[in-house]
Amino acid sequence: MSDADELQILNPATEEVVATVLAASEQDVAAAVARAVRAQTGWAALAPADRARLLRRFADTVDAHTEELARLEVREAGHTLGNARWEAGNARDLLHYAAGGAERLLGKQIPVPGGWDVTFQEPLGVVGVIAPWNFPMPIAAWGSFPALAAGNAVVLKPAETTPLTALRLAALALEAGLPEHLFQVLPGHGRIAGRALVDHPDVAKIVFTGSTRTGREVMERCARLVKPVTLELGGKSPNVVFADADLKTALDPFSFLDNAGQDCCARTRILVQETVLDEARAFLADALAAVVVGDPADEKTQMGPLISAAQRDRVRSYVPDGAPALRGGAPDGPGFWFPPTVLTGERHDSPAAREEIFGPVAVLLPFTDEQDAVRLANDTPYGLSGSVWTRDLGRALRVSQAVRAGNLSVNSHSSVRYWTPFGGYRQSGVGRELGPDALTAFTETKNVFISTEGPAQ
Ligand code: NAD
Repeated sequence: MSDADELQILNPATEEVVATVLAASEQDVAAAVARAVRAQTGWAALAPADRARLLRRFADTVDAHTEELARLEVREAGHTLGNARWEAGNARDLLHYAAGGAERLLGKQIPVPGGWDVTFQEPLGVVGVIAPWNFPMPIAAWGSFPALAAGNAVVLKPAETTPLTALRLAALALEAGLPEHLFQVLPGHGRIAGRALVDHPDVAKIVFTGSTRTGREVMERCARLVKPVTLELGGKSPNVVFADADLKTALDPFSFLDNAGQDCCARTRILVQETVLDEARAFLADALAAVVVGDPADEKTQMGPLISAAQRDRVRSYVPDGAPALRGGAPDGPGFWFPPTVLTGERHDSPAAREEIFGPVAVLLPFTDEQDAVRLANDTPYGLSGSVWTRDLGRALRVSQAVRAGNLSVNSHSSVRYWTPFGGYRQSGVGRELGPDALTAFTETKNVFISTEGPAQ
């Protein structure tokens, strides 16, 4: 493809073209950043209450279009309608939450001798957000909305395959009355538009969500300009199931099948205490067979397609023909389908058990006791998420303290709430998004000392 080409957006369930979108060039990125610099000056000068009011209006506008946004996400990303509705609602709710933050971006008053000392949280300027294709709408929102609330402008580059909901959000921002060029969305290629954003000296921070490999490159390039980054990268999260757990809830296959497994928090290493391994295998075999895979626009569908043919090929490469596995069904014909799968013959150090597959594939692995469970859970370069299932409270606390990951759930598979912090340890990322400190990540702290000394006598 040339630098000035178009992106063809395919419906992953049908392979039909949904839309064609121009890909931004390096010059387009530079022009957008220059416009954002101007827009940010006016935005930061507004009273916090006025910024909050405009963001709440933006939230209301998103609310009035949630069904439209959800159906667009079904078409461009193959998400089930139920998931896509949740995603549009998540963008709206985060706007309300961030709007409240604009008025609560407090500094400190620190006791010092000879005067007063106060701190201010000042906006960074222009923030660059680079989003992946797996959750196009929420991830665009998590990077952008707290940054806007803290007084910054945002230039967002969505993934090549999924720019449509982000473009629609930017149009809704204008409709709601946000200043022109404050929140710009530039579809484009990672190696052209993404790199141009990362390398631009007037982009004060990069928020990147995507693969660990690209995240490493982004961090290296930011280091040349001493530009701060937030990185939300891959995962290979454990689901630690002790023998005393409620197996049916603990082994819910949607702990790794949600969004067809294209979820960085997917619990794809199912670690089960060996005394209940046979029971777990029998339960999972029935549960996978019962998963409804098909047209994501059908309300009854539980799992849709993968995003692309390339992603399906990648997932398939981890599941050789004849590999010992439990399998569900998937449609034939057009669309990028892959059946729900649990590999049962893997060692914990095999590629399928160590690498992020990013599809509806998990591995089932036994452990002996608590110590063994913690050792296996931590034997990964990642550290994003995970679950611990036991009725023993002391053990639940010990294991959740011992597992090195940013987002753990005990007797639950939940991971992401817009009002709690989200992010990973080790190669799962740097920094945190969401939660009560989300806005602070988009500010510089300024310390000002004011002398109370009187004039010299
Ligand atoms: P990717 O790293 O290929 O692409 C992510 C984004 O980066 C895209 O917008 C892409 O265009 C852009 N990009 C690519 N090369 C670039 C470069 N050299 N410079 C700047 N930008 C560049 O990842 P993907 O395949 O789109 O997404 C899947 C990956 O994202 C998975 O590994 C998954 O775990 C990860 N992910 C992590 C989280 C998280 O919060 N931790 C969330 C979602 C996805």
